[in-house]
Amino acid sequence: MIKLRENKESTHHKPIKVANLPSKVYISLSQHFGAACEPKVSVGDEVKTGQLIGSLDKGLFSPVHSSVSGKVIAIQDCPHPSLGKAKAVVIENDNTDSKINESLKTEQEVNNLSVEQLRKIIFDAGVVGLGGAAFPAHVKLTPPKKIDSFILNGAECEPYLTNDFVLMKQKAGGILEGAKIVLKILGDPQCYIAIEDNKPEAIKIMWELIKDTNFKLKVLKSSYPQGGEKQLTKSVLNREVPSGGLPFDIGVVVHNVGTVFAIYEAVYKSKPLYEKVVTLTGSCLANPQNLLVRIGTTVRDLLDNCGSFKNEPAKIVFGGPMMGTAQFTLDVPVIKSTTGIIFFSKNELTNREDRVCCRCGRCVDVCPVKIMPAFITMATERDKFEVAKSYDVMDCIECGLCSYVCPARRDLVGLIKYAKSRIKNK
Ligand code: SF4
Ligand code: SF4
Repeated sequence: MIKLRENKESTHHKPIKVANLPSKVYISLSQHFGAACEPKVSVGDEVKTGQLIGSLDKGLFSPVHSSVSGKVIAIQDCPHPSLGKAKAVVIENDNTDSKINESLKTEQEVNNLSVEQLRKIIFDAGVVGLGGAAFPAHVKLTPPKKIDSFILNGAECEPYLTNDFVLMKQKAGGILEGAKIVLKILGDPQCYIAIEDNKPEAIKIMWELIKDTNFKLKVLKSSYPQGGEKQLTKSVLNREVPSGGLPFDIGVVVHNVGTVFAIYEAVYKSKPLYEKVVTLTGSCLANPQNLLVRIGTTVRDLLDNCGSFKNEPAKIVFGGPMMGTAQFTLDVPVIKSTTGIIFFSKNELTNREDRVCCRCGRCVDVCPVKIMPAFITMATERDKFEVAKSYDVMDCIECGLCSYVCPARRDLVGLIKYAKSRIKNK
């Protein structure tokens, strides 16, 4: 792991601002790890905010809900931040924000719910991992073996992003209530709250709330990729997740603070996951913000909340600068896994060239999962995917550090992603 320049100063002091509701939302039916949902509405239907609009009868998926009230005007392929294009439900906003029944529960009512009832509420609300992976939360809360440790991930190690930080500052109480629900479902393992030492305000707020409880606070050195599940498990518990394995395999579950807050809202407020905090930042933006955004809002519509551009961006990235995905249109909508949107100017970009490896070994030294990016990418360039596989390419967490340190500016992570997709789709 290495220390990166943080670049969080533009937004870390900015409170969460509720974004203006757009005139239309483009709600993708592919917002989670697993199969895309089928639409459960038709063109012409009137829908309410929070109403189910996408689901499947079986398989690994998470339901999708409307983020505004209004009329379904199309179900069609639309821009998607990681897939290029995907089927989406387009809803024209009627500006009444008329919601489905979001009834409140008392603590006593929540305590009376069984583990099965809690899991069903979380599934029905469409909660997925909000740290970027979008893995359906109810699946992670159904571990195949006994769990002894739950890590609440507030590391937020990617540069530029501050959405988790502001959530911890402003919604710590809800996050802890969500964590209690997770603990009940997992059979009361030990809870560790992991926060990097560059977030002293969040650490102080959390400490005040947990100092007389069984929760343990772990203050971690700020380094990248500290927030990755495997790295976090090592840093907090000094346990190694085995190659090809998951934290489950060693009795650990990790959930991001945003996910746990969404679980709190689903259980206490009957609120489906139809909005989330997203950091909009970068040197091209006049007024960077942490925005509470309705899912399906396009970048173009969000810019109204940020004073638009100071200068024309040369690159727009969804997610952080290390793991994020470049976008080619302002018409791409926010999905559940969107953590941030960064607008880079031309002089901030690294020119990746097809240069020859000088065998310096830096990519190997820096790789947090201890694989050999140089050899993997040389094999990939020769279409030798079996060789790449034998070098454990599938363990790559796509953190981007190898590309970051490579003096030859080789697009190592790009080649590795390509090798992984070729092996998966074989
Ligand atoms: S090989 Fe994968 S895990 Fe290792 S540094 Fe490169 S992107 Fe990160
Ligand atoms: S960092 Fe770049 S140049 Fe150095 S060994 Fe790795 S791929 Fe080769």
